[in-house]
Amino acid sequence: MLCTPGQKALGQKAATLLGEHAVGIFDHAVMHVPVETANAACEFAQTARADLCVAIGGGSTTGLAKAIALRSGLPILAVPTTYAGSEMTPIWGLTEQGVKRTGRDPRVLPRTTLYDPELTLNLPATTSATSGMNALAHCVEGLYSESANPLVSLMAEEGIRALGRSLPRIVHQPDDLEARSDALYGAWLAGVTLGSVGMALHHKLCHTLGGAFNLPHAQTHTIILPHALAYNAKAVPEAAQRVARALGAEDGVQALVELITALGAPTALKDIGMPREGIERAAELATANPYYNPAPVKKDALRRLLQNAYDGRPPEPYLS
Ligand code: NAD
Repeated sequence: MLCTPGQKALGQKAATLLGEHAVGIFDHAVMHVPVETANAACEFAQTARADLCVAIGGGSTTGLAKAIALRSGLPILAVPTTYAGSEMTPIWGLTEQGVKRTGRDPRVLPRTTLYDPELTLNLPATTSATSGMNALAHCVEGLYSESANPLVSLMAEEGIRALGRSLPRIVHQPDDLEARSDALYGAWLAGVTLGSVGMALHHKLCHTLGGAFNLPHAQTHTIILPHALAYNAKAVPEAAQRVARALGAEDGVQALVELITALGAPTALKDIGMPREGIERAAELATANPYYNPAPVKKDALRRLLQNAYDGRPPEPYLS
């Protein structure tokens, strides 16, 4: 049984329900899966002679289960309690010395996922909002992915629609079980999108910022998303239009800005622990290796994007 220290009681409850099938609880899952934590968890699973990992928690806990599965092939049963969507992807991530590596491997895709909206009722409104925006980001980038296809785009657009309508309801009334269920539906669509097609600039930037400055993952996604769409919108007008349509608005970038404001979510990297001098380093790291993005990745434009995101200023068409 894997969980974070904060969700130990939930992990223990689940282990109790499993009775003699539960051979141990490893409650040290933390954000971004540091390689040291992954090593300790693998050793724990081996010592306990586990034949299955139950990951009960958010993306960090699922990520730890994936790190174990990557090395040992142990199957995963995921019980997500946030909206990150990791449970539906074959993507793993590991952080070593400030650099986060990610990869795809079918062994890390959970064999079974149990969605229970009641388990998300304790997720604070602010975390719910940012975790849902993280999922929404998978959908947005899925729409302009290099490997985008009509079917996945349908799911991505529907994911944006579901999250766009459920997250404000959750923030307004955190015990709204129907809205919680709707958000999990959106998270599922987002996870399938992320697992099916490749991502682009937005995910690259967030992974760079998360790994290099240990920024909180979901908040970073929330802050960067409108800027990333603004960067790409001209190159992919149809995708931007679909984002707008899903959010019931005229303009996709503006609709994202308004959604984030309505959720009371953070809009500035400086407020979540980013050092000012990190802007230059992030621009360098994010342009160091080539990757797919519909608009050309230019260091000057990225620096401007990061500067705006750092200060919490509105997005602009960075490549005009
Ligand atoms: P998280 O798992 O780090 O959880 C955030 C905090 O919320 C933790 O302290 C956790 O204990 C707590 N928490 C979780 N559920 C709760 C609940 N229902 N009630 C109360 N507290 C709760 O956050 P996250 O946003 O779900 O996951 C972020 C991580 O997931 C990042 O490391 C990211 O890279 C990874 N991720 C991976 C993928 C993938 O496909 N590999 C996709 C999305 C996210």
